[in-house]
Amino acid sequence: MKPPLILGAGPAGAAAALRLARLGAEPLLIDRQQVPGDALCGGFLSWATIAQIEALGIDAAMLGGHRIDRLALFAGGQEIELPLPAPGMGLSRHRLDTLLRATATEAGVTFRLGHAVRTLTPTAITLDDGQALDWDSLFLATGKHDVRGAARPRDGADPELGLRLRLPASPARQRLIGGRIELHWVEGGYVGLLLQEDGSANLCMAVRKSRLIAAGGRPLGLIAALADRSPALADRLGDVSAAGSVDAIGDVPYGWRATTTWPGLYRLGDQAAVIPSLAGEGIGIALASAAEAVAQWQAQGRDGAERYQRHFARRALLPLRAAAGFRALGRYPGLLRVLSATPGAARLAMRLTRIAEA
Ligand SMILES: Cc1cc2nc3c(=O)[nH]c(=O)nc-3n(C[C@H](O)[C@H](O)[C@H](O)COP(=O)(O)OP(=O)(O)OC[C@H]3O[C@@H](n4cnc5c(N)ncnc54)[C@H](O)[C@@H]3O)c2cc1C
Repeated sequence: MKPPLILGAGPAGAAAALRLARLGAEPLLIDRQQVPGDALCGGFLSWATIAQIEALGIDAAMLGGHRIDRLALFAGGQEIELPLPAPGMGLSRHRLDTLLRATATEAGVTFRLGHAVRTLTPTAITLDDGQALDWDSLFLATGKHDVRGAARPRDGADPELGLRLRLPASPARQRLIGGRIELHWVEGGYVGLLLQEDGSANLCMAVRKSRLIAAGGRPLGLIAALADRSPALADRLGDVSAAGSVDAIGDVPYGWRATTTWPGLYRLGDQAAVIPSLAGEGIGIALASAAEAVAQWQAQGRDGAERYQRHFARRALLPLRAAAGFRALGRYPGLLRVLSATPGAARLAMRLTRIAEA
């Protein structure tokens, strides 16, 4: 039998590879990036995601993230603050992905880095240098990016975009954001803000493409326009024109779940289920899918893929639905007061958006 192939060394692929290596399966992990970049992500690790990282044998203290213990919600000119059920952290993806790759290396994973996978068929992949590799068991973990032959469907109508702007450490942001993850509802989407391990702020947002077009197609122009309409955002952003460039990812298929698959093909992370990102649970889903897929692979080898995919799709349904409901909260800002007055309901909403243990 051929060693399992893993495509993509983000949280899903790295976690699957290290679990497979610990089973003695000698996996090959392929990623187009030689060294981890700083993936477009809000950088929020929930208490539940931290527990999953610890389950991989990584000491949470080693992550060194910025402690976050409160959630602040802004909508319709209102602001409320809620305690998190347990502390989370703000951590750059560069740091998280680097640690996961290092742990996978220690576990004996073989890497093939700096090579993009171009196509995927039910029996083989081709790399950007033209090389073809046959596979028996394949873990597809290319996250936000689709591979030709196995792309996720899109609906095409006014797609949602992800945008990210890094803001340098500043006393004003330290005072205003501090130990909070902030979610600001804006027209056509939301803006998330938190501080990361080095004190810098990560602004990450999901917004309809039509909003960007209305801002002349300029991401910085869109962010500046949102700040013009929200004093709270303006206070946090300061002079946006002095900020660096904005990273963007197009057409994020929020709400999508893989309910079926090919024999031997285990879809992980964003290739298995895409949760609305304001829930801050995408990394949790990536790690949970890796754990369940590898357990199923251990039990049934390539024959377990279909069963895994169906079961994981069911498992992801509740958090995806809960996150979609949470996203709609921005349309009813009056509900913020209800949440603030009933801490039990707020805690429940936060728990329902987490992926349950298998
Ligand atoms: C705006 C926004 C904000 C978010 N905020 C948060 C948050 O705060 N907290 C949270 O938990 N989640 C958040 N998420 C979700 C989170 O980023 C994803 O769910 C998570 O990154 C999925 O992990 P993954 O391993 O599946 O994929 P990814 O992290 O996307 O990793 C994929 C890997 O595959 C590699 N790759 C891609 N294509 C190829 C190819 N063709 N060949 C070889 N390698 C390839 C990439 O280089 C990368 O290393 C956010 C998402 C968005 C869009």
